[in-house]
Amino acid sequence: MLKYTDYDIVFQEIPDEVTLAINLSNCPHKCKGCHSPQLWLDIGEVLTETVILNLLSKYGYLITCVCFMGGDANPFEVEKLSVFIKKQSELCIKTAWYSGCEKLNKVKTQNFDYIKLGSYKQELGGLKSLQTNQRLYKVKDGLMHDITELMRR
Ligand code: SF4
Repeated sequence: MLKYTDYDIVFQEIPDEVTLAINLSNCPHKCKGCHSPQLWLDIGEVLTETVILNLLSKYGYLITCVCFMGGDANPFEVEKLSVFIKKQSELCIKTAWYSGCEKLNKVKTQNFDYIKLGSYKQELGGLKSLQTNQRLYKVKDGLMHDITELMRR
């Protein structure tokens, strides 16, 4: 089960997309210097298909992408909801996943349009840092293309 604490419409997390970012709790990574340590806890409301439909009915015509921020404790559920969003074809909404894992072994990457990989390492910085360990990928035809440099524009 996935739980979310809050959501926001953001412009910088995914380049050239207007993104509804949904913050998921129960993060297993517990990175030193984490920007949101409250997300380590198993808190918030259950993120169901009904919740997604309600969000899309409110914001679907304002956004171009939905991004799952976290959810690594339950990767299949993230994938399932991503596929569900893609089935709402009249909206043509893309999906993204900000994962703290170094690799995604258990899901099909082609079920997402964007995937961010890598935990937060304080000494290396986030995606905008030149030294970062994190990578942002655009998925096209099942292949992952590294677009991290677009985060530094
Ligand atoms: S993956 Fe993100 S939310 Fe989880 S501990 Fe690391 S920085 Fe915090």
